[in-house]
Amino acid sequence: MKSIMDKKDGTCYLCRLLYGDHTQKTVQEHHIFYGTAKRKLSEKYGLKVYLCLYHHTGDIRGTKEAVHRNKEIADLLHREGQEAFIRMYPNLNFLKIFGKSWLSVEAITEIMMEEKTEADGQMAAVSEGIIWHEPLDGEIPF
Ligand SMILES: [Zn+2]
Ligand SMILES: [Zn+2]
Repeated sequence: MKSIMDKKDGTCYLCRLLYGDHTQKTVQEHHIFYGTAKRKLSEKYGLKVYLCLYHHTGDIRGTKEAVHRNKEIADLLHREGQEAFIRMYPNLNFLKIFGKSWLSVEAITEIMMEEKTEADGQMAAVSEGIIWHEPLDGEIPF
């Protein structure tokens, strides 16, 4: 499945997030939740990002912010991934599927409330004939 979090445009997800750096780099695909079983789930739900070598496994500058070497960075991406999952698949239970939650109940509630408001807004616009939104691949049509 294509990433629901990122597109392969030669920029690094963490360089953008941490430094606002949109420059082109050599990037590698990173599965947000890794290890044998979780990697498959990341693939299935599109929870992948593109990372420069420094942010993936480390490079000549070291491994300080490399996701596979730094738990805080890994958890930052876990939270980003869980949020993307909740927004993309509002009817699926992340905790049940991945066996763990990286977000607080408050954070999850906030994301779900935001999504609900947006969905209601879109539904109203559709029913009023203002827009017709063609469902994207994998998106739940309404
Ligand atoms: Zn980077
Ligand atoms: Zn990786």
